Amino acid sequence: MVRVRFAPSPTGFLHIGSARTALFNWMVARAQGGKFILRIEDTDQVRSKTEFLEEILESMKWLGLTWDEYYKQSDRFDIYRQYAGKLLSEGKAYQDGAAVVLKVPQKSIKLYDLIRGEIVVDTKEIKDQVLMKSDGSPTYSFACVVDDALMEMTCIIRGEDHISNTPKQMLIYEALDFKIPKFAHLPLILDPEGGRMSKRAGATAVSEYRTQGFLPQAIVNYLMLLGWSPGNNQEKVSMASALKTFSIKKVNKAGAAFSFEKLQWLNSQYIREMDTARLAEALRPLVAARYPQADLQGADFERMVQLYKGRMNTLADFLDWTDYIFTDLVPFDPEAKAAHLTRDMGKEFDVLAQQLGAVDDFNAKTAEETFRSVVAGLGIEAGTLVHPVRVALTGRAVGPGLFDTMAVLGKERTIRRLKEGFH
Ligand code: GLU
Repeated sequence: MVRVRFAPSPTGFLHIGSARTALFNWMVARAQGGKFILRIEDTDQVRSKTEFLEEILESMKWLGLTWDEYYKQSDRFDIYRQYAGKLLSEGKAYQDGAAVVLKVPQKSIKLYDLIRGEIVVDTKEIKDQVLMKSDGSPTYSFACVVDDALMEMTCIIRGEDHISNTPKQMLIYEALDFKIPKFAHLPLILDPEGGRMSKRAGATAVSEYRTQGFLPQAIVNYLMLLGWSPGNNQEKVSMASALKTFSIKKVNKAGAAFSFEKLQWLNSQYIREMDTARLAEALRPLVAARYPQADLQGADFERMVQLYKGRMNTLADFLDWTDYIFTDLVPFDPEAKAAHLTRDMGKEFDVLAQQLGAVDDFNAKTAEETFRSVVAGLGIEAGTLVHPVRVALTGRAVGPGLFDTMAVLGKERTIRRLKEGFH
């Protein structure tokens, strides 16, 4: 039975890189009918914070990375003390001041990494290892080994930044006569230029991506491609199909370049395929947070969502683009205004406003018919009027179809903006 774990320290938010580690462990468990264990490594009582723990749990749930067992190292100090005592009594560790330290024997350690192959380390490079600190708390490696062994982990999958810890931890397994699990160190995530991931390049908290309007399916899809590929250059990959072919042995050892653009593209694809009612549901809390007075329950809201669905890269785009609907002041883009509302279109606007005012059943179709008859009557090209009208109604030179926009704004506001926007 496969047993794998994700072991975050609640000393910071769930970072996009750690989320990839969690995901790969979760996928191994789910692909092989094994167990995925979440273990909180909160032995550092000063740096561990409840707010970080809550954010980590919330983000894991949001991503759909459900766990089968849950442990917290702060509940297990007695166990670590007991094993430190055992090593002391067997003479494998010694007391230094108040700390307990492991004697490191001279030997060479052979580690077989499922991704990187064989790694040999001479212990000459390893100092005696502190297991328990003088304040009575275990070190990361000691608690990690005791738990990985007692929790019967079959494979330790973690970031490459931990590779130097592995030989040290293997010495602890040996001293405790524990069976050594398999190891797999995931390649680092690099920025698009091949450098270390920075905040600017996208190395930020999962919750931050959530706030920016990314969908969990898109993030999960994106993260699974950081170091792994289902073959045939496929980029949009469903979890069900990924689980059929995913294997940790097929993960690349070269660093994986993070591309915010690709993540955005994937997100736009997931948004497009979402059912409009569900998308509206996902958008409601965001819109309500910015515009508490807005009525988001009616059919109008879903119509707006439908209008922008094919254009959004993130849910936040919807918020940025629909301000003209939810506020009464048209947020004019100065460039759009300068380019399209300069010439004197007062007369055309008046005629259009007047004709639209006479429409009984105001919708995209009747608005279009009215508009076409107005331009025909005035003897001008439709294009001459489309851009100025769009700017007057929305403040922008680009947007969804003009007549759909009118329908969403409604008759009264459309007419008011035609009268006010220009004069
Ligand atoms: N708590 C460690 C970390 O967050 C876990 C490392 C491991 O997976 O062993 O980096």
